[in-house]
Amino acid sequence: MAESYDYLIVGAGFAGSVLAERLAEGSGKRCLVVDRRDHIAGNAHDRTDQAGILIHAYGPHYFRTNSDKVVAYLSRFTDWHPVDYQVLVWTNGKYWQFPINLNTFEQYLGRPSTTEEMEATLARWRVPVNHPKNSEEVVVSQVGREFYEMFFRNYTRKQWRRDPSELDASVCGRIPVRTNRDNRFVTEKFQALPRDGYTAMFRRMLDHPRIEVRLKTDYREAKGQVKYRHLIYTGMIDEYYDFAEGRLPYRSMRFEPETIPKEFFQPAMQVNYPNDFDYTRVVEIKHATGQKSPVTTIVREYPEDFGPGKEAYYPIPADDTKMQYAKYAERAEQERRVTFVGRLATYRYYNMDQVVAMALTEYEKLKER
Ligand code: FAD
Ligand code: UDP
Repeated sequence: MAESYDYLIVGAGFAGSVLAERLAEGSGKRCLVVDRRDHIAGNAHDRTDQAGILIHAYGPHYFRTNSDKVVAYLSRFTDWHPVDYQVLVWTNGKYWQFPINLNTFEQYLGRPSTTEEMEATLARWRVPVNHPKNSEEVVVSQVGREFYEMFFRNYTRKQWRRDPSELDASVCGRIPVRTNRDNRFVTEKFQALPRDGYTAMFRRMLDHPRIEVRLKTDYREAKGQVKYRHLIYTGMIDEYYDFAEGRLPYRSMRFEPETIPKEFFQPAMQVNYPNDFDYTRVVEIKHATGQKSPVTTIVREYPEDFGPGKEAYYPIPADDTKMQYAKYAERAEQERRVTFVGRLATYRYYNMDQVVAMALTEYEKLKER
C-alpha cells in the first residue's frame, strides 16, 4: 500500500516549507515535502564550507521586509542578526558608493557637495519620461544617461542578456536612488539575517511530527510512490505542464566560491562589476554574518543562459514573458487539487519576504476549504 498524506509539497524552499509548517502545525495535516536537491531551504540554502566559513550557496540572500507579519512568523524559528547591507560598485578603476546617493555624486565630482546641488544636477540630467515602462526609462528618468551607462546598462545586459529597455521597470526600479548619505543597499525597515543561518531556520520549521522531508526526490518520482489529497507545487510551472505552452525563459547562474587566506578580501559585503569581467558581483558574506575567522570565502556570480543541466534562478520580468506565462496561469486557475506558489511556480521576481507572505496567504485559502 502506498503511503498516504494530506499534502504532497514539491520544493523545500520558502514557499514549500512555510506551507508545510502551517498545514502541519496550524491544521494538523500530514505533509510530505520533496526536493530534488540534496538539501532544504531552496535558493536560500547556506552552509559552512571547508574553510569553516558560512556561505550563501546560491547568491547572497539579504533578508529585508516591511511586513511585521512576516517577521513575527519567521521569528518563531530564528533569532536575528541585524545588518546594514552595504554594496559597492567597481568601475572606472575604483570603488563607488552604491546605490547612487550623495556620496556617489561627490565621488563623481571629486569634491564635497550638498543634497541641494545633487538634486539640481539630477534635475538637469534626468530624461523626462512620464510613466517609465522599462528598466532603461526608470533609470534615465531618475539619474540621466551618464550614471545609467556607468552603473546599470552593462550590468543588466550581463545579468539578463537583454537590454534594460527590454525588461520591466521593476527590475532596475528595485534599486533606490537617494540624494542623502544613506548607504544602505535596501530601504525596508527590517534588515537582518537569521542568526544561525537560513538552513538552521528551515530545519526548525520543518522539524515537525506531521512533516516528512525526502531529499534528492523529484516530483515525478514521488507522485508515483505516495497518495495525497492536494499538491503544492513550487517548481517551474512550465515544467509541471510538460512545457505544453512552450518553454518559459529563465536566467541561470554559476556560483564560484574561492577561499582566500586573509581576513577580508574586499571592502564590503558585495561588489558589483557592471563594466569589468564576466561576473556581475563578488559576495563576501562574512561582512554581513559577522563571522570571525583569519580566512575568508568569496563567491563570484556568473550569469548563464538557462538550459539542460542548469538551474532556473530568475524568471525574466518583461511584457513578452508575461504573455507566455499567462497561458500557464490560465491552466493553473482551473486546477482544484493543485496550488502553485513561490517564485518559479508563479513566475515572479519575488524576494524572500514576498514569498513568505504569499505562502501565508495561500495557507489561509487552503484552511478555508
Ligand atoms: P526556491 O527557493 O527556488 O525553492 C524551490 C525548490 O523546489 C528548490 O529547492 C527546487 O530544487 C525544488 N524543486 C523544483 N522543481 C522540483 C521538482 N520537480 N521536484 C522536486 N523539487 C523541485 N531574496 C531576498 O529577499 N533577498 C535577497 O538578497 C535575494 N537574493 C537572491 C539572489 C539570487 C542569486 C537568487 C537566485 C535569488 C535571490 N532572492 C533573494 C530570492 C529568493 O531566493 C526567493 O525569493 C526565494 O528563495 C523563493 O523561494 P521559493 O520557495 O519560491 O523557491
Ligand atoms: N543592477 C544594475 N547594476 C547594479 C546593481 C543592479 O544594473 O550594480 C540592476 C540589474 O538589472 C539587476 C537589478 O538591478 O538585475 C536588480 O539588482 P539586485 O541587486 O536587486 O538583483 P538580485 O539580487 O535580485 O540579483
